[in-house]
Amino acid sequence: MRYDQLLVRYGELTLKSGNRHTFVNKLKGNIKHALIPLIGYEVHANRDRMYIHLSDEIDVEEVIRRVSRVFGVHSVSPVMRVDKEIETVREAAVVVAQDVDEEGKTFKIDVKRSDKSYPMETFELQQVLGGAVLNGIDHLKVNVRQPDYRIQVEIRRDAAYLYSRVIKGAGGLPVGTGGKTLLMLSGGIDSPVAGIEVMKRGVTIEAIHFHSPPFTSDEAKQKVIDLTRIMAETAGEIKLHLVPFTDIQKTIHKVIPENMTMTSTRRMMLAIAEQVANQIGAQAIVNGENLGQVASQTLGSMHAINAVTSMPILRPLLTLDKDEIILKAKDIGTFETSIKPFEDCCTIFTPKNPKTNPKLEKVEKFESKYNFDTMIQEAIANTEVMTLTKEREAVQGFSELL
Ligand code: ATP
Ligand code: MG
Repeated sequence: MRYDQLLVRYGELTLKSGNRHTFVNKLKGNIKHALIPLIGYEVHANRDRMYIHLSDEIDVEEVIRRVSRVFGVHSVSPVMRVDKEIETVREAAVVVAQDVDEEGKTFKIDVKRSDKSYPMETFELQQVLGGAVLNGIDHLKVNVRQPDYRIQVEIRRDAAYLYSRVIKGAGGLPVGTGGKTLLMLSGGIDSPVAGIEVMKRGVTIEAIHFHSPPFTSDEAKQKVIDLTRIMAETAGEIKLHLVPFTDIQKTIHKVIPENMTMTSTRRMMLAIAEQVANQIGAQAIVNGENLGQVASQTLGSMHAINAVTSMPILRPLLTLDKDEIILKAKDIGTFETSIKPFEDCCTIFTPKNPKTNPKLEKVEKFESKYNFDTMIQEAIANTEVMTLTKEREAVQGFSELL
């Protein structure tokens, strides 16, 4: 006797009844993507839940691990489908109970009898199955009010279905149901986490990275490519826009007073990001800013930097502490890559004493003395675009399935 299907619950999706069909379809696609390169399953979705039928060969725990991490999945349960013959159902109930068994715990049998022609009534079934579990496992006790475990038994027309484990899912909404944003991706710890946080709310992302070769290395560029690939595990594929930023940065350091170069650098990045966002149809920009973390992230700095755009800027990490961000980075698997020591363009050009409260009028005055707009257009024209998917062997698996 084995678990041969996974029940997937949607949770919050139910609130959006108008778009339910789209949501469920996206979720189904994202789940299939998460299961690459595993084979031996079939996904069946309806309005309220999804069933993934599992072949004998597939590793059920691996399927649980992958599916439970998909945004939009509220919880999952491995389910056992058996013949309705009472002896078989009894046996299955004991197997399911063994699976959640822990010393000193209590359980309850919950029976749902949707096949009204079944010869045994609900109460009687509860008695028989409860008795079987008590006999089968010595130390388990019944508690009908507040059991530690519920053993769910559903008698349907075709078969009996049993489960007990409920594994919490990632929550959120399916990626691809909430519009598109452009993520400003550095090689640091924060921005990949910011990207995943908005994806959790169903939003699709493309990423933009500013690099300044030869001041920044190929390794620094590769690091950003790797980070994008890790994020693509959640999303199918992510486009990465690599913007050559050397000329602009050099010019800033020539014409802007040193303590304001940081502010101007950020403003130029944002001005470019806004234009790229418009080109790709993104409705907001996302960054990894965190209030008060460094000089460019005080309220005063944000005010002066933000003034170059009227596009909404989403800062999902704004109020988190660094240790909370690090935990998230470890969880999504970007931390080890982010801490590789290759410096990005901001680190290299960092002024000694950046202004923590730059005056907007002053920054604007200095910038207006130089024609940055032409350089911005040039940088955009020379931007390299890459499309990244999850790790290569997995992608081959995907094409085999098509
Ligand atoms: P991160 O860990 O994401 O680098 P940080 O705490 O180091 O963040 P900053 O370096 O000040 O903070 O950057 C703040 C935000 O600006 C980043 O989270 C990112 O969204 C954006 N950013 C910084 N540098 C770049 C870059 N080279 N390319 C694209 N975006 C960048
Ligand atoms: Mg950084």
